[in-house]
Amino acid sequence: MLILGLESSCDETAAALVTDKREVLAHRLARQDEAHRPFGGVVPEIAARAHVEALAPLVEAALADAGVTLADVDAIAATAGPGLIGGVMVGLVTGKALAHAAGKPLVAVNHLEGHALSPRLADPDLDFPYLLLLVSGGHCQLLLVEGVGRYRRLATTIDDAAGEAFDKTAKLLGLGFPGGPAVERAAKDGDPRAVPLPRPLVGSGEPHFSFAGLKSDVARKAGKFPAADLAASFQQAVVDCLVDRTRIALGKAPQASALVVAGGVAANGAVRGALEALAGEHGLRFVAPPLWLCTDNAAMIAWAGAERFAAGLTDPLDLAARPRWPLDPDAEKVRGAGV
Ligand code: ATP
Ligand code: MG
Ligand code: FE
Repeated sequence: MLILGLESSCDETAAALVTDKREVLAHRLARQDEAHRPFGGVVPEIAARAHVEALAPLVEAALADAGVTLADVDAIAATAGPGLIGGVMVGLVTGKALAHAAGKPLVAVNHLEGHALSPRLADPDLDFPYLLLLVSGGHCQLLLVEGVGRYRRLATTIDDAAGEAFDKTAKLLGLGFPGGPAVERAAKDGDPRAVPLPRPLVGSGEPHFSFAGLKSDVARKAGKFPAADLAASFQQAVVDCLVDRTRIALGKAPQASALVVAGGVAANGAVRGALEALAGEHGLRFVAPPLWLCTDNAAMIAWAGAERFAAGLTDPLDLAARPRWPLDPDAEKVRGAGV
């Protein structure tokens, strides 16, 4: 089975061809860093226009790389949300047009499901259920992944996402855009114990996250300590929060066969190392996708598409793009009642 995947929910435009045998035959990606850098963050309208220009050539290039045509593809998977709606629409409409023109089924993929299943593309031995720490630019959640389309959310952030905190810290410290990798680079030359910073919610019995207070404290201390020490101390504080909260979640998910991390922040070496140690403490396997599969890409969308298609799940061509789309709608319902 061969799936074409499209991704355009934030500021990466991407197309990939992946088989159900976990072969990544092609993956193409265009970043927009230069376009957004002057603004220090992603500008939705600029992103949407850039996706329009980049996507069709990337699809052609990916097909050429793989040496296939649309006729060889079994289904077309496109991110249908959540994300910046203009960008999501570009990818979804492109996917619909290709599906219609080639007479192929459309598989609408939740971007978060792309992240959530990406470790299974990297690791053939990763079986359900597993405990997933999903740490990205817009999300910070602990999910029990029970199967394709079956996600039980154990925790979420009550304010910022972890990646957002990295990005804001980079901005506060003048480290540039995109922020996560810049903070990690700066932290290599700093002392993680140099600056006292809070660990919000650490010690609480529910595994939720909070990063707003940490970010505010970095803002208060910016300029008063060397940037490298602040970066290293911030990164250590995030790691401590992620590990403590994940430890609580592991206690609530004894059925998990592995501890898994995915999403852009999973590319961070300190985060990976600390979670691997935590998994070791619990005698659990630890799985983290390779770095290129952590940040946004289309291979994870194609793979989630392959998993959904194999389960008989396809979507109509009049499906709407969704700016918000929780993986676990039940958890979302109780959000108002205390996260
Ligand atoms: P979402 O997936 O929640 O919709 P997104 O798609 O924008 O959001 P991703 O592309 O998965 O997010 O991840 C991007 C985030 O990961 C950014 O916030 C970025 O700063 C962070 N990130 C990327 N690399 C690193 C790193 N090495 N260390 C820390 N954070 C990182
Ligand atoms: Mg991005
Ligand atoms: Fe993402």
